[in-house]
Amino acid sequence: MSNCVVIGAGVSGLATACLLQDAGFQVAVVDRLAGPGGRAGRFADSGFQWDTGPSWYLMPEAFDRFFGRLGYRTSDFFELTELSPAYRLFNEAGRAADIDDTVIEFFDQRSPGQGARLSDYLATASDTYQVALKHFLYTTFSNPLELTHPDILRRLPRLAALLGQSLESYVGSRFTDPLLRQVLTYPAVFLSTEPAAAPALYSLMSHADLTQGVRYPQGGFAAIIDALLAIATKLGVRFQWETEATAIVTHGTHATTVTTNRGTLPADLVVSAADLHHTETHLVPAHQRTFSDRFFARRDPGLSTVLVLAGVRGQLPELAHHNLLFSRDWDPDFDSVFREGGASNSIYVCKTSASDASVAPEGCENLFILVPTAADAALGHGSAYGEESAKVAGIASRALQQLAEWAEIPDLHDRLLTQHTIGPADFVSRYHSLSAGAIGPAHTLFQSAFFRGRAKSKKIDNLFYAGATTVPGVGVPMCLISAENVLTAAKGCQRT
Ligand SMILES: Cc1cc2nc3c(=O)[nH]c(=O)nc-3n(C[C@H](O)[C@H](O)[C@H](O)COP(=O)(O)OP(=O)(O)OC[C@H]3O[C@@H](n4cnc5c(N)ncnc54)[C@H](O)[C@@H]3O)c2cc1C
Repeated sequence: MSNCVVIGAGVSGLATACLLQDAGFQVAVVDRLAGPGGRAGRFADSGFQWDTGPSWYLMPEAFDRFFGRLGYRTSDFFELTELSPAYRLFNEAGRAADIDDTVIEFFDQRSPGQGARLSDYLATASDTYQVALKHFLYTTFSNPLELTHPDILRRLPRLAALLGQSLESYVGSRFTDPLLRQVLTYPAVFLSTEPAAAPALYSLMSHADLTQGVRYPQGGFAAIIDALLAIATKLGVRFQWETEATAIVTHGTHATTVTTNRGTLPADLVVSAADLHHTETHLVPAHQRTFSDRFFARRDPGLSTVLVLAGVRGQLPELAHHNLLFSRDWDPDFDSVFREGGASNSIYVCKTSASDASVAPEGCENLFILVPTAADAALGHGSAYGEESAKVAGIASRALQQLAEWAEIPDLHDRLLTQHTIGPADFVSRYHSLSAGAIGPAHTLFQSAFFRGRAKSKKIDNLFYAGATTVPGVGVPMCLISAENVLTAAKGCQRT
């Protein structure tokens, strides 16, 4: 049996391990941390349990397809709850709107005629989403002819127009109301970027949150990690925790061994599901790198975050499951994050306990607050894994104060039972992230599709890359897709 070593047990490492073991490899997964999940980790304290990363379950078909490939349904492992509203909006004036399946009417009420515009916008977004799913995501771009498929050629003028302008200008030319513009442009943040830098092609994200709707996996994203771990273990994948890969050793153009702080592992195939920059600058022999220092120096690392994990006494009926606090300083907020080394006043708050009784003690609420910040390790660590910096503490405290004011919860501070933070520097110390980017390189035009990275090394014929920092991109569904793309690219690497 051929040996495969997978570096990293985040979503993409776990998913890749499942597929390769299922395809006949004997897979060993190493991770420097004490358990699985990576950025999709879990943190528990005082009867509360928080997901430390993902909270929006979007693109359900990517999950269905992945589990289906291995003979399962997602419902074999976790139950999905449809969220209604999909999310609640707040601004300086307080609660502004609930976004649910009456979103067209809401747009019309806000500004007559904008409902019909939204219908057109979403129809285009849905079509673009389907094309992307079929032709731009489940592909290794190894055959340029794939891009001349009639589905693409027929839509070429429209796709070119969507690639040639920013999401901000695309939305701005169709919608006048500032709040409606925010609803349609905030998904850029999911892509680790800002509306002015994301190509309008990413308007397809509105298909995911406004048309498909938002679901929640009971048990949180930790339940998805548990599912991947259970499948991998059942298939026979072996795991080594607290095991840091230190080098990928080659013989000629062939990787033969992965060395770790605990010994060496023989490999007929190596998949690095660690961040691409770390793999290339720390693990691959210098003369066999696919991506140069110049490539990484030009890379936009995207955004980082300060996360607040809070446990609150009593109920918070003011909040829905997902809550977006959009400040009127929308453009200055993005300037602060992307150009001024600061934090955003537009923040996201998840009250997971709205849909899941298991994440908080009875009568309490579980809050997860995400403040977008500059990708700058100098902002410091949070308290969850070490010593909290004054900057992280300040950002967290301002976010809690803002939530208390905007959502009209004046006693929020007094009701806090427990609070932990995660800061930009934690993404470096835990995941070796480039410039403290939390989510992955920004999905700008030149960091998307085949510009973003590769599934296969150019110099080492049995080395593959998976995960959010390479193709197709950030987010849990993308990581599942990247695993499938590695499987496709690795065909033929088995020892006979
Ligand atoms: C705050 C936040 C919010 C998010 N929200 C959402 C959301 O709502 N919905 C969504 O779909 N996605 C979301 N995402 C994105 C999603 O969580 C990530 O894209 C995904 O979890 C990344 O998985 P990965 O396997 O690529 O990388 P990681 O999770 O980073 O896994 C890489 C693993 O490699 C290990 N590693 C690194 N170097 C080494 C080494 N040398 N040796 C051994 N092990 C090593 C690390 O310890 C880590 O466990 C969010 C991310 C963050 C941070």
